[in-house]
Amino acid sequence: MIRITPYGAAGEVTGSAYMLETDAATVLIDFGMFQGDKDDDARNVVPGAVHRATVNAVLLTHGHLDHAGRLPVLIRDGYRGPIYCTHATRDIAEIILNDAAHIQESDYERKQRRAQRSGRKLSRYDVPLFDHEDVEQALSQMVIIEYGGTLSVATGVQAVFHDAGHLLGSASVELRIQDADRERIVVFSGDVGPQNLPFLHDPEPPRKADVVVLESTYGDRDHRSLEETLREFQQIIVDAIEQNGKIFIPSFAIGRVQQMMFHIAELVRDRRIPAIPIFLDSPMAIRANAVYRKHTELFDTESSQLVEGGQLLHDLRSIRVCVTADESKAINDEQGPFIVIAGSGMCTAGRIMHHIRNSISDPTSHFVIVGYQARGSLGRKLVDGAPGVKIMGEYHNVRAQIHTLGGFSAHAGQTELLDWFGAVAQSGVSSLLLTHGEDRARKPLRDKVQERFGVSAFLPTYSEHCEV
Ligand SMILES: [Zn+2]
Repeated sequence: MIRITPYGAAGEVTGSAYMLETDAATVLIDFGMFQGDKDDDARNVVPGAVHRATVNAVLLTHGHLDHAGRLPVLIRDGYRGPIYCTHATRDIAEIILNDAAHIQESDYERKQRRAQRSGRKLSRYDVPLFDHEDVEQALSQMVIIEYGGTLSVATGVQAVFHDAGHLLGSASVELRIQDADRERIVVFSGDVGPQNLPFLHDPEPPRKADVVVLESTYGDRDHRSLEETLREFQQIIVDAIEQNGKIFIPSFAIGRVQQMMFHIAELVRDRRIPAIPIFLDSPMAIRANAVYRKHTELFDTESSQLVEGGQLLHDLRSIRVCVTADESKAINDEQGPFIVIAGSGMCTAGRIMHHIRNSISDPTSHFVIVGYQARGSLGRKLVDGAPGVKIMGEYHNVRAQIHTLGGFSAHAGQTELLDWFGAVAQSGVSSLLLTHGEDRARKPLRDKVQERFGVSAFLPTYSEHCEV
């Protein structure tokens, strides 16, 4: 018997967590945070069934918060077993989980101050989900696994990590499971990257599986092509230069920032844009750059050559790094044209907020939205064409030019997901579970899979057991 139960990312894109049970072992694959909703704190817990189970091992596909963010909560719940992941995933998780702990703690302090002023008591949901100590403990339990190596992770369960091409160190996890007298292979895709993402290798799907759990974030559509997106991006920069305008790119610090730096370098190298000043205004992105520099062994051939020959550094010669708040504020006094890359990616916090406040009413300023914008976020309001936005209590008219570029996604589009699945489908997949996607994305993917491969996919809901 093999039983798979999702505790997140079932019909939605955040909170990835799966419990896999055999007669001899229980393992978790990812234990991520729910994000984007006010009520999420109440969901970011260890579900009763996981709490009651004896978890033998955790396998982490990559370091994004929606895949790793509940690990410190699991630690607080008493888990002391191994957390298997690649070296780069560990390094990225260290930055992301510490940042999350910091946000948790400062939110708590703010709530405390507010409660003191109003003479009210805090509820049990107001306490931080975890702190830096829980994060340190989680990191100390991480066991590094290399791509392609086979490792016994629990009784009767062997794991192989394959490059998923989504984020530095990201993996699809293949589990070889001893089930009664036979071996069965269960594959968790993790987040699958698109083709040609800067720095990363293209995804390498496993060749053989009986059961596949596949993400479906963009199961309903293909992205605009990279070349078209780059042309659009180039035009925005050229227009801004003509107006002596300022270009702001709200970016998530890990993965997206490096991707955007790569594309800017590419445009400069090909003389499609001049080397105008670029401000990297994100301490977290600067830390993430160090992780990229540490793991050049993971780069694809093109990026390795650009880095080794010094070409990339040369193309990015106009970059200026803003570590301190004063350095960030000093950008206000600069004359355009220039580019600012700052967090957060959905304009919900971070240094981008100050830039929005200062420049959103300036018609020569450009905001380039390159990532997913959750409902309710300020970034989403800009994308949806809001005439004005409220920032730190003040109302600002939106007069800047807002551009949305959909082609820089770090997720595979529909065709790429089908190709990824096609590589394993021929080996005789008997069960397919579609997760990590809203129904409007996973239903069309289910239909395409049925049509092309004759496999009926199952769309599990939260805590729904799937016996495979
Ligand atoms: Zn991810």
